[in-house]
Amino acid sequence: MSAVAGVSPDPSVRTSRVVRCQARVLRRRSLTHDTVELVLGRLPGSPPLLGRAGQFAVLTAPGLDRPRAYSFARDPAQEAPGEHTFVIRLVPGGAMSGWLAGGDRIGEIVELAGPLGRFGLDDHAGAMIFVAGGSGMSVTRALLQAAVRRQVPRDAVVLHGARTAADLYAGAELAQLAAGWHPGARCAVAEVLSDEPDDSAWAGPRGLVTDYLRDAVLTDLHLNIANASAWLCGPAPMIAAADTVLRAAGVAPSRIHRDVFEDASSPAPVIDNRRCVLCDECLLVRPVDGCIVESSGFEVAVDGGVAGPCALVPGATSGLYYNSLVIDPERCIRCSACINACPHGAIDPGYPRRTETLRQPA
Ligand SMILES: Cc1cc2nc3c(=O)[nH]c(=O)nc-3n(C[C@H](O)[C@H](O)[C@H](O)COP(=O)(O)OP(=O)(O)OC[C@H]3O[C@@H](n4cnc5c(N)ncnc54)[C@H](O)[C@@H]3O)c2cc1C
Ligand code: SF4
Ligand code: SF4
Repeated sequence: MSAVAGVSPDPSVRTSRVVRCQARVLRRRSLTHDTVELVLGRLPGSPPLLGRAGQFAVLTAPGLDRPRAYSFARDPAQEAPGEHTFVIRLVPGGAMSGWLAGGDRIGEIVELAGPLGRFGLDDHAGAMIFVAGGSGMSVTRALLQAAVRRQVPRDAVVLHGARTAADLYAGAELAQLAAGWHPGARCAVAEVLSDEPDDSAWAGPRGLVTDYLRDAVLTDLHLNIANASAWLCGPAPMIAAADTVLRAAGVAPSRIHRDVFEDASSPAPVIDNRRCVLCDECLLVRPVDGCIVESSGFEVAVDGGVAGPCALVPGATSGLYYNSLVIDPERCIRCSACINACPHGAIDPGYPRRTETLRQPA
């Protein structure tokens, strides 16, 4: 809710759900030619980051202009006390992944903010379908670890799509997790390669992981598709394709959970102030200062005596009294935390970029 100008905020009211802590890079393991696993250890005195499998944290590194989001790569409940594991894929020319994965950062201090996101295991009883692309396997692994820890009695299919055998890194761990699955249920794992050379020794499935999902997995008569849930993690195009395949096969859209690894090349989400009720939920989870701007300024276009849509006045951002919110695309890191938090569906990642239209004044 917007605050009233001149009234001091109640100090007992939490203004953010985001915990910030300092952590040191403790260990580094090279997983593939472009992917590393980093283990960070919270510094003594820093508050704990109590996340669950499927969530993510936002990392700030020294000298970089803005943070980036990284998923917890292990089930937080099974981490050593104070430790957080991340899997980072080096993006060519990428600032943060280059810093984290491109060199030896052991001993460096970073800031972690989180835990964020609503992605996680659900409580349904039907089959579980996991589709991971590239580094999306990190969060999938965390979900599988949590499912084994909880001994979830549901059949599961786990697909990891990668380009070549050189891009795979989780096969042995996935086999171990499948072996520890609930004894009353099945867990099948497949790694699917899209660009593996024809003459290589690879004997597993080839092609797009989403084609394999459609042609080999969803035709499995043992899977009760109507009752299934799916978890899609990784790059946006793979998630969109898997979503289409699953919906066409009859998986309920509400049971398709998506964790899109957006980056700076994705459009920033947009707040539709006609739907926003100023409940502040998005402000409580924003991990970056100023990514969502509170504004008290608007201009009303009057046409023939009738008030039209309002347009934001960028400078009028008191933060104390506001009647409209706007996402600053320059500060937004595309983490989706606000989209997940909005109970009114007022923040949309898919809106075309346009001049923001604001609430009509009463
Ligand atoms: C919820 C979530 C979880 C994630 N989890 C992981 C994870 O577990 N592991 C992982 O490796 N990644 C993960 N990511 C992606 C991660 O946050 C970073 O986006 C990624 O590491 C790239 O960051 P970077 O700084 O290296 O690249 P950047 O420097 O941000 O560049 C990324 C891409 O955007 C392009 N670009 C840069 N600036 C602009 C601009 N202004 N306009 C258009 N394009 C631009 C670059 O050319 C490049 O292709 C996750 C993302 C989200 C949202
Ligand atoms: S505006 Fe939303 S998506 Fe962007 S950084 Fe803030 S919380 Fe994340
Ligand atoms: S955008 Fe959504 S979460 Fe944010 S204040 Fe408006 S209704 Fe609440």
